[in-house]
Amino acid sequence: MRKALICPTKYVQGEDELLNLGYFVQTYGKSALLIAHPDDVERVKTQLEETKKKFNITFVESGFCGQCSRQEVKRLQELAKEKNCDCTIGLGGGKAIDTAKCVAEGDNLIIVPTIAATDAPTSHSAVLYTPDGAFDDYAYFKQSPSVILIDTKVIANAPTRFIVSGMGDALSTYFEARANVQSFTKVNAGLPCGVREGLCPEARGTNAAFVLAKACYENLMTDGIKAKMASDINAVTPALENIIETNILLSGLGFESGGLAAAHAIHDGLTILEGTHGYFHGEKVAFGTLCQLALENAPMEEILEVLDFCDAIGLPVCLEDIGVTEITDEELIEVAKKACIPEESIYAMPFPITIENVAASIKAADEIGRKYKAGLL
Ligand SMILES: [Zn+2]
Repeated sequence: MRKALICPTKYVQGEDELLNLGYFVQTYGKSALLIAHPDDVERVKTQLEETKKKFNITFVESGFCGQCSRQEVKRLQELAKEKNCDCTIGLGGGKAIDTAKCVAEGDNLIIVPTIAATDAPTSHSAVLYTPDGAFDDYAYFKQSPSVILIDTKVIANAPTRFIVSGMGDALSTYFEARANVQSFTKVNAGLPCGVREGLCPEARGTNAAFVLAKACYENLMTDGIKAKMASDINAVTPALENIIETNILLSGLGFESGGLAAAHAIHDGLTILEGTHGYFHGEKVAFGTLCQLALENAPMEEILEVLDFCDAIGLPVCLEDIGVTEITDEELIEVAKKACIPEESIYAMPFPITIENVAASIKAADEIGRKYKAGLL
């Protein structure tokens, strides 16, 4: 059987790690194209100035427009060429990071997440949007980022909702990887550069990826609540450090090399509901995880463990918690239809999938979540 695993060349996290950013730039040359939202640059201005001086390097400000579109990527690539940049830095949240991945195309790329809200920083993929913000396409690169650099103090000082959402994204990783192991489904790690599939043979997940996905879940259970409290008081504690690593590294490698399944597909389906738009990716994924557990008829004790966890750190457990106060059966079918389009990860589940079953699992997960909140479970 063909198997594959992909990962960043280097992952570093620590207090004041941003001060070492210049060191990594220096390993490529003198100057770096800095792709970041102006607010994020402002947050870490002092550290950027300090590392610039210490390592005698230059940051070329990109004037990033905030959207990861083909037009913006092309403009930034031309700017990098014109200014002779030796490497690309993506600093901040999802859009800046994805744009930096597209600009660098797998070469000399340093990713500096300033929040731990998703597991996207470590991956070799990005999502492209049109300039108006509509979904355009997925892009895959020949390599994962060269360096992932995380300043734990910066993450600790970000609003707690971000790290809690990151735990929601990480919550699905083990259950989705488990489904992939059971169904022998191909994983993203095996995808060739540039296109989604077709040019090179498929690859399944490795044992290594599944072990990481398992550790991801175990860490959430052990340190999730403690990390949430540490974030509330902006303190870097061992629990917070463990959860930063869990949300970004373990979940990142776990999803990309272990595979996605129903939780993320149902997340994608839920995005058609207007009410969910104010909620973060990880918040919707947490509820998607409960839907996957209902869909696969997981043991009640497993469902209760996940419910206890979500409830303790403030992750959604029912539709109302993600802004959906009312839903008709017809709307549920539409959500399920979107979750079941042919390219969705839902087919990684180890049994046949029907739109009706998926709609029923969302309804059942909502009922379980509501009963739980009412103290009836
Ligand atoms: Zn995700």
